[in-house]
Amino acid sequence: MSSELPGCAKCPYEPTTRICQQKDGKSPPFCPTVTKTHIIEKALEEVMKPENLEFARQASIQEGEGYADKELGYAQTRPLKPRIVEIIEFAKKMNYKKLGLVFCMGLRKEAKVVENLLSINGFDVVSGLCKMGRTPKEMIGVRDEQKIKIGCFESMCNPIAQAFVLNDENTEFNIMMGLCVGHDSLFLKYSEAPCTVFAVKDRLLGHNPLAAIYNIDSYYRSLKVAK
Ligand code: SF4
Repeated sequence: MSSELPGCAKCPYEPTTRICQQKDGKSPPFCPTVTKTHIIEKALEEVMKPENLEFARQASIQEGEGYADKELGYAQTRPLKPRIVEIIEFAKKMNYKKLGLVFCMGLRKEAKVVENLLSINGFDVVSGLCKMGRTPKEMIGVRDEQKIKIGCFESMCNPIAQAFVLNDENTEFNIMMGLCVGHDSLFLKYSEAPCTVFAVKDRLLGHNPLAAIYNIDSYYRSLKVAK
């Protein structure tokens, strides 16, 4: 048993040669496929439970349907669908009728478009903005200089309220759009329905946080120096 922390992100091997992709594949000392077999078996038992099995099966089918030209071989497969299409298709596969949509004030225009796309595909949509309830930030100990609009009233984001409103309406599947770091965590903690993320917030990078990662060796090289 390795004493190293599981570290798939550091795996040195080509994807197709890894033990998680083929039976006699390679594995580093920190490989959970080798060191965590008991946990992976336990996870599989959980996947096989009726409440998870169909969800997992349809998610994998959706994944496979995300590629074109599969008959030409793996090297020639192409991505086929944007995420919004995948979400709509997956929700239909699961026979969901009532969807939740939680979003940030900063993405209200985009949320209106998404709500419309979901509605025209036949779903009932319950939507909730982060600022619902108009609770002042002072309520949770935020000082005036820590607000965005210093010297003014400012509503706090209340992701638990967003979750409670959707829970109260018995939404079957919740879609998240641009919740702040940490607010998204609280929403996930309190949402009763399974969730998917349509978009994550990145105020600077147009909600594409990977842009900083793609440019790590150029414009974002300073990130490699510990702050
Ligand atoms: S499971 Fe093992 S072989 Fe697969 S990526 Fe993780 S460390 Fe690498």
